[in-house]
Amino acid sequence: MLNIERYINELMTSNCYILWNDESRRCLVIDPGSEKSLREIEFIKEKELALDYIILTHEHTDHNWGVNALVESFSEAKVVCHKICKENITMESSAYFRLYYDTPTYSYKIHKVDIEIENQDWILDWNGIDVRFIHTPGHSMGSVCILVNRWLFTGDTLMQYKPYINKRNGSKEHYVRSVDMLMKTYPGDMQIYPGHGEIFPLKNYNALYGISNKED
Ligand SMILES: [Zn+2]
Repeated sequence: MLNIERYINELMTSNCYILWNDESRRCLVIDPGSEKSLREIEFIKEKELALDYIILTHEHTDHNWGVNALVESFSEAKVVCHKICKENITMESSAYFRLYYDTPTYSYKIHKVDIEIENQDWILDWNGIDVRFIHTPGHSMGSVCILVNRWLFTGDTLMQYKPYINKRNGSKEHYVRSVDMLMKTYPGDMQIYPGHGEIFPLKNYNALYGISNKED
């Protein structure tokens, strides 16, 4: 059976999710955003799991600050994200970190990305479980949503907060298109696991912000 564990990351209270299979003892981590990933590492070791993938919903530091620490502890883990996300997070620059702290001397980059997603829609076979990546540019251009079972992990694309379009590398036009596509594709009772805040059914997103899901 597939289980979900959620941790609140330290930088901007973003969500980190660990998906773990209690039969195969394998797991994957979505958006480790605490610098040292201490709780994730402890959880994985305590449960004696193998970490297969570290998956990033997008390029902002509060969703990936802990990647290097996780890779140091579990060197077999593969880092997966969209191509545009990869271009941003592997640069020798603290650009995204400066979104949160005024720390000109602090430098941070992700040391490796193993799988970069280029397609609009791409499926990773995780030991017989489909992990589907859907490119949803808008909040940032490297944003993806991730579908596993009936759970949709949306990063900062869908949250129970007002939509936020990043000025540096987001696009409102793309955002509206991405949200429309999600609304048309998935049922209203689909559970959304957002990048910040609590889990909610997809239909509530539309009610909250009035973003059209009609065919126009
Ligand atoms: Zn973000």
